[in-house]
Amino acid sequence: MKLEGRVAWVTGGGSGLGRAICARFAEEGARVAVNDLRAETAEETAAALPGEGHLAVVGDVSDSARVAAMAAEIDAACGRLDVLVNNAGVDRVPDDGMDKLLEGHPLTPNMPDEGWTRMLAIHLNGAFFCAREASKRMIEGGSGAIVNMSSIAGLAGMGPVHYATAKAGLLGFTRSLARELGGRGIRVNAICPGAIETPMTTNVPEPILKGMIAATPLGRMGSADDIANATLFLASDDSAFVTGQWLSPNGGIFIG
Ligand code: NAD
Repeated sequence: MKLEGRVAWVTGGGSGLGRAICARFAEEGARVAVNDLRAETAEETAAALPGEGHLAVVGDVSDSARVAAMAAEIDAACGRLDVLVNNAGVDRVPDDGMDKLLEGHPLTPNMPDEGWTRMLAIHLNGAFFCAREASKRMIEGGSGAIVNMSSIAGLAGMGPVHYATAKAGLLGFTRSLARELGGRGIRVNAICPGAIETPMTTNVPEPILKGMIAATPLGRMGSADDIANATLFLASDDSAFVTGQWLSPNGGIFIG
């Protein structure tokens, strides 16, 4: 039981990678606060977890006031916070010009302000707002682990420009925050998944997915469990001397 007695806040826990991470953490003894934008999926995830005391904390991670309120809900229910996984994310937002990209045009000349700023807000503001609340509690408790869900898009530009920029930003955030909080016993790391089978990738056109699998030495897409296992490693004492790093379960599509 690698997370026995610990409380973990997982954002975007109502689907895909977030849901698998919540399940893996609960199997290892954690109490999990499952965040999602969508109340029913967060509640569904929390209700299905093994063990006791899990809760749903519903809201948009890019809304700073809502994030503070969610942290207060976790305080009231659990009285501590040991792990934060900044996993909530999207690969498209309204008015981002992605339809043009899929028709074969470059994205940047076709992207309105709203598409760019919303993508950065969800990933970067969201991770910052949650880490700000979590770090206050972790400093008080004297330890903690933060895991940020980046992507091979952030490592190698393998993705649309607004998404890749947001994911690369999360790597800078991870490195700086690791230096800032290390002295307080808090580790901060990132995961850079390759192509993983989740509801997010069901929207990716078939030829693009086939091309990604063809370029992956292990010859398959990853599973949500592949990412949950890597997240457990970075959240638990198994990685006690690891901070400021990224781990990329990607089947070899990016090696570097
Ligand atoms: P998903 O669409 O299955 O799940 C994402 C969840 O995040 C959804 O439940 C959604 O409601 C929630 N969410 C979105 N915006 C939110 C917000 N503002 N506040 C709170 N919750 C919000 O996607 P997934 O594949 O599980 O992706 C999870 C994370 O992993 C994302 O950050 C994604 O960018 C990243 N990622 C995924 C892949 C992949 O191949 N699936 C690869 C690399 C990185």
